[in-house]
Amino acid sequence: MKLTTKIFIGLILGAVVGIVLHLAAPDLFTTLDAYVFSPLGTVFLNLIKMLVVPIVFFSITLGTASLGDPKKLGRIGGKTIAFFLATTTIAISIAISLAYLFQPGNIDIDPAGAEYEAEEAPGVVETFTNIIPTNPIQSMVEGNMLQIIAFSIFIGFALAMLGKKTEGIYKIIDQGNEIMMFLVNLIMRFAPYGAFGLLASAIGTMGIDGMKGMLMYMVVVILGLFIHAIVTYGSAVKFFGKMSPVKFFKGFFPAMTVGFSTSSSSSTLPISMKTAQENLNVPKPVSSFVQPLGATINMDGTAIMQGVATIFIAQVYGSDLGFAQLIMVVLTAVLASIGTAGVPGVGLIMLAMVLNQVSLPVEGIALIIGIDRLLDMTRTALNITGDAACAVVVAETEKKHGLEEDSRTAEA
Ligand code: ASP
Repeated sequence: MKLTTKIFIGLILGAVVGIVLHLAAPDLFTTLDAYVFSPLGTVFLNLIKMLVVPIVFFSITLGTASLGDPKKLGRIGGKTIAFFLATTTIAISIAISLAYLFQPGNIDIDPAGAEYEAEEAPGVVETFTNIIPTNPIQSMVEGNMLQIIAFSIFIGFALAMLGKKTEGIYKIIDQGNEIMMFLVNLIMRFAPYGAFGLLASAIGTMGIDGMKGMLMYMVVVILGLFIHAIVTYGSAVKFFGKMSPVKFFKGFFPAMTVGFSTSSSSSTLPISMKTAQENLNVPKPVSSFVQPLGATINMDGTAIMQGVATIFIAQVYGSDLGFAQLIMVVLTAVLASIGTAGVPGVGLIMLAMVLNQVSLPVEGIALIIGIDRLLDMTRTALNITGDAACAVVVAETEKKHGLEEDSRTAEA
């Protein structure tokens, strides 16, 4: 049986077991969750998280070094950022339109008792200036992705410029990358069990009680995610990536299931990269550059949730947003999704920033927090798909510039 099928079965079984135990035997669920489901999920999560920092460092350094030419790097960087910004803006516009069309917030709930303690969201300027690490080792210890990416690009650039002089280090990094990819393959065999544990634990804890009244909100978010995947990514890969959307979604599906189970773009990164390289034929230098960056700053699913949530909260509290405020929502949601780290639940924290910007009560977040777990899974699957779509498009448009698998080996 194919691994994807096994992961899929793990997901479904996990969801069914979670919901059945939640309804029929909540005590048994608590025990099983403590001793079986959560540990299974945590072992799987830890296994892949273990690889994230070294993979990001090795692969980006290698990707940058093998692109060789700084002009090429600039061009790929520019295209990547342009793709991310454009698709995120489209995502949030879809979200706002759907929220106005379906009015999920016109429901009978009293927001008076809602309480939510907003965590401090990092400022925009701070986020940008912090990209350059003052201590790269500390960035690695803390797992600060943007800083690791910046440091790796510098090292890769130096390797490219120094060429033969640094051949030894280049080889070590190349071999380090091989080791990581080998380990990803190994760990993936455990994915079906991990997915089972994560799903059983998440669904069993959440149950379906919290969903009452929130159904329309959930439907609108999920509809937005689907439309964005099919229409935006489908057309992007078809027209700019010259790939059939069916091939794209089928090829990337294994990574989507892992993103869904882990709710974390960062943790899924090793698997999304492997899947894009092997199933979508994205050359390593492009995948190594685009996907880690995307897993950190490109979150279209999160932007969709934030767009729908903002309009939902405005509707529940009966406040009307004017056109200028809607533009503000688009701008801040794009920034908020860039600032959102690829870990579970952070999108909700960053939502506070959007709500503040248009003077909506942050307490509104309390209304959606109960059902956010499921939406977090779904939007994470979309977040990583956006990065893969970008990688496919960049790879295709770079073909005419002669993108060899590795300019250093090609030179040799
Ligand atoms: N969990 C999401 C991700 O990792 C981020 C979020 O929206 O909370 O992609």
